[in-house]
Amino acid sequence: MKIFIPKMYKKSIFEIDYSKLKKLGYKLLIFDLDNTIGTISEKVCSKKSQEFLNSLTKDFQVIIASNSFKKRVSNFLKDTNLDYFSFSLKPTLKVLKKITKKYQIEYSKMVIIGDQVLTDIFLGNRKGLMTILVDPLYIKDFKITKINRNIEKLIMKKNKLIRGNYYEKE
Ligand SMILES: [Mg+2]
Repeated sequence: MKIFIPKMYKKSIFEIDYSKLKKLGYKLLIFDLDNTIGTISEKVCSKKSQEFLNSLTKDFQVIIASNSFKKRVSNFLKDTNLDYFSFSLKPTLKVLKKITKKYQIEYSKMVIIGDQVLTDIFLGNRKGLMTILVDPLYIKDFKITKINRNIEKLIMKKNKLIRGNYYEKE
């Protein structure tokens, strides 16, 4: 069941120590979209998230990988220059393969950051990425995510992973 355990768990993307990640040699950050950088009711990326993600591009290649459809993702990111992969089918390996092909960076130099154990964390752990779980920005989820959340609850319980008990292993 270790495959579902994030290597790090933080309240939000803003609480992560990115300078430490840089020192550890990570080069590419993959962010989930829904409930990680924006809520599901936000049609476009907030100024706060936008500026924050933009500031990270100085030190990292920053990519958004979302399971949402292209229309939602491209519209959400329309005021940014961030590269994205929509309908990414996490936790299948499809999106990671596309990212390595495009950026020629090894999995061990990548970080995946997201609010879902079943998609973001599971995918990252499958290939040995640094995996960082964050809390969902808001309680509201898309329908498909609601189903995932019930499974997630069981997995978290089994692994003694408690929402709110943040940690940093490395
Ligand atoms: Mg999400």
